[in-house]
Amino acid sequence: MPRQLSVVAGLRHWWRQADHYDWFADYLSARGLVGLARVITAVTAAGLALVAATVMLSPGGPTGTLDVTLGWAAVALAFGCAIVRWSIWPSKRQSVVLILALNLAIALFCQVQTDQLIGVVGATAFATTGISIACLHSAKYMLYNVVVATYIGVLQAVRAMGETDGHLILAALGLVLIINISVPFSVQSLVHALGGDVVQSDRDPLTGLLHRRALFRQINALLLSHREHADFLAVTMIDLDKFKVLNDTYGHSAGDDALVAVGEALLTAANGRALVGRVGGEEFMVAELCETAHDTGLSERLRAAIAALPQHITGSVGTAVASINDVPTDDFQDLVVTLFRRSDRAMYEAKRAGGNQIRHTVIDLPAIPVSGADNLPAGNRPARRTSD
Ligand code: GH3
Ligand code: MG
Ligand code: MG
Repeated sequence: MPRQLSVVAGLRHWWRQADHYDWFADYLSARGLVGLARVITAVTAAGLALVAATVMLSPGGPTGTLDVTLGWAAVALAFGCAIVRWSIWPSKRQSVVLILALNLAIALFCQVQTDQLIGVVGATAFATTGISIACLHSAKYMLYNVVVATYIGVLQAVRAMGETDGHLILAALGLVLIINISVPFSVQSLVHALGGDVVQSDRDPLTGLLHRRALFRQINALLLSHREHADFLAVTMIDLDKFKVLNDTYGHSAGDDALVAVGEALLTAANGRALVGRVGGEEFMVAELCETAHDTGLSERLRAAIAALPQHITGSVGTAVASINDVPTDDFQDLVVTLFRRSDRAMYEAKRAGGNQIRHTVIDLPAIPVSGADNLPAGNRPARRTSD
C-alpha cells in the first residue's frame, strides 16, 4: 500500500507544480538561448503548417466546402503561430495563447479529414504542443493537451472503423497515445529535475535566500516583466551590527543560527512583495518595485524584524530608490548596480550613526555615472567609511 500512496503523492506533486515559464525563460535568456528557442518553435509550427498544406492539396485530403475551408484555416493558424514565434519571444500569457492556438489548429486539421486514418496519424502532432507545455507551463495545460489529443485520436479511430483495416487504425491510435503521453511527460520530468537544480543553484546554502548573482538576475527579470506596474525601484542593504561579537561570544554555529533567523525574519517582513538575498557574510539585500520615491516603510519593518529576534542583534539599514521610467531596458543592470552601491553607502551612514537605524537616499539617475556591472563590491568585506 505505501507504493500506491507514493504514486498518489507523486501525482499530487505533479499536479501542483508551478508554471515553469519564469525560471525556464530566465535560464534560456541567461545562456543566450532565447533566439534558438524562437527559431525551433517557429520552424516546428511552420513545418506543421507545410505538412497540413500538403495534405490539403492532396486528392486524399478533405472534401466539401466547409471541411476544405476549416482545413485551410488550420493551415493559416499554424502558419500565423510560426510567424509570431519567429518575431517575438512571448510573455507567459502569449506563450499559452500560442500553444492553445496551435493545439486548435491540429485538432481542426484532424477533424476535417475525409480519410480518417490521416486524422488519427495527424493527432501525433499534439506532441509538439505537449513538449512546449512540458518545458514552459503547468500540469493543467499538459492534461488539456493529452485529453484533446486522445479525444481527437479516438474519435477519428472510431469513424475509421469499418472503412479501413482495424489493425492499422489501432496501431495508429497506439502511436498517438504513446507519443502524446510518453514524450511530453518525459520532457516535463527532465525539465522539473533541471528546475530543481537551477532553483537550488540560485540559493545560499545556509539561509536559503537568493545569493547575490541570482538576486541581481532576478531583479533584472522583475524589472523586465513588471516595469509597467511600478515607477520606482528601491534597494535596501542591511549589515548586521557587531556580528563578530556574537560569533566570538557564542561561537560560529550560534552565529550561523542567527543568520538563518535573520533570513527568515527578512522574508516574513518582505511578505512576498520584495526579493530578498544574502549578498555577503552578514549582509542582506532587499529589492522592491514601488509607486513612490519616499520610504515605503519596508526598511523599518526589516530593521524591526531583526531587532525583535531573540538573538539580540540589530542591523544598519540603507535604502536607495530611483525612478525606472525612461530607463532603457539595456540599462537595467547598471541601474541595479548604482542602487546597490548607493544603498550600501546609506547603510554605512546608518552604521556610523550608531547602527540599528535607517538612511534613505533618493537618486536622480542622470546625475549618477555608472561604471559597469562587473565591478560589484565584494560580499563579506570589512566595514569601511563612505566619505568617498
Ligand atoms: P559592524 O558591521 O557593526 O561594523 O561589525 P561586524 O562585526 O558585523 O563587522 P564585520 O563586517 O567586520 O564582521 C562580520 C563578521 O561576520 C565577520 C565574520 O566572522 C562574520 N561572518 C561572516 N559570514 C559568516 C557566516 O557565514 N557565519 C558566521 N557565523 N559568521 C559569519
Ligand atoms: Mg559586514
Ligand atoms: Mg556587520
